[in-house]
Amino acid sequence: MPLKPAALLVAVVAGFLFPGRASAHPHHETDPPDSAHVEIDPQVVTSAQRVQPEVTIETQGDRRIITANGLPDHATGRFPNRHNPHAVRPQRYRFEMPLTPERSDAPTDARGMPFGVAINGVPFDPGTAENWTPHGLQRGGLPTDWTYEALGGAVDLGVDPSNAHVQPSGAYHYHGVPHGLLQRIVALRRAKVGPVLLGYAADGFPIYHAEGYVDPQDAQSNVVALRPSYRLKQGQRPDEHADPPGPGGNHDGAFAQDYEYVEGLGDLDECNGRFAVTPEYPEGTYHYMLTDAFPFVPRMFRGTPDDSFRRRGPGPNNGERDRERRNGRGDRPPPDRRQPPPPR
Ligand SMILES: [Zn+2]
Repeated sequence: MPLKPAALLVAVVAGFLFPGRASAHPHHETDPPDSAHVEIDPQVVTSAQRVQPEVTIETQGDRRIITANGLPDHATGRFPNRHNPHAVRPQRYRFEMPLTPERSDAPTDARGMPFGVAINGVPFDPGTAENWTPHGLQRGGLPTDWTYEALGGAVDLGVDPSNAHVQPSGAYHYHGVPHGLLQRIVALRRAKVGPVLLGYAADGFPIYHAEGYVDPQDAQSNVVALRPSYRLKQGQRPDEHADPPGPGGNHDGAFAQDYEYVEGLGDLDECNGRFAVTPEYPEGTYHYMLTDAFPFVPRMFRGTPDDSFRRRGPGPNNGERDRERRNGRGDRPPPDRRQPPPPR
């Protein structure tokens, strides 16, 4: 019988994730925004500091519905910053997904949409809007064969200790393991260490931190770190004289396409997931994992993503974000890491 963890999660969200919400900003929910009360560096005072994080995870029929304002419930880096000139602002998210997702015959590319959403309402969005083309950097538009990688180490996108930063729309989002959220969950746990549920993918499968039982079918077995099955390709990228042309240089991780999947190299499949039992799914479920190595956040769906995750979603902020992406104001790595963009 499939477990229905939604009710449990609502309790988790309400009781665990916001234990300090009553005292952290006791007056902010009733006080109107008032710049006269700003007493620290005005550059880092954003609406995010005047609005509480909000998230609701509920079940309606065979659907899980997550509504959130997208504000993180943990400490973040400083935004705006030199490499990410955007302030965190509340969003209006409504994500839906099947409660009992099904695996497709073949994985599908997850580019062009957020991969999923954390249990605190912050999206996982590993892609960037910038691509290499023979005619120069393309900002926004459709992905090309060479997409700049946010956590590859080659470019500085101003991400914070939770591997997150901010869209021009003010949307705080994770490009990798959300360490602030993870630490918060682990610190509040009474049970001993086990797989940690961090969120849900757009196709409905759960997302865990990259630790799992050494025997996927035995919840009594040891918990071990699980490894992705991707590695850097050997040799050099095609250059501008190649057909088709490429950006040249070594496969150093600057681009998502610098990596290749090698079946059996690690513990996880090409979607960075596996089937195993977890505390929330004692009968076992397919689930994704967030890893400290590529792909960090999965880039492929095992199931079918829900339309509520697409850029042109129902929320006004989705539309705003979509326009910004088309206008080239999305994540913005420099076209060449030897020439970082000037601070803004
Ligand atoms: Zn980003």
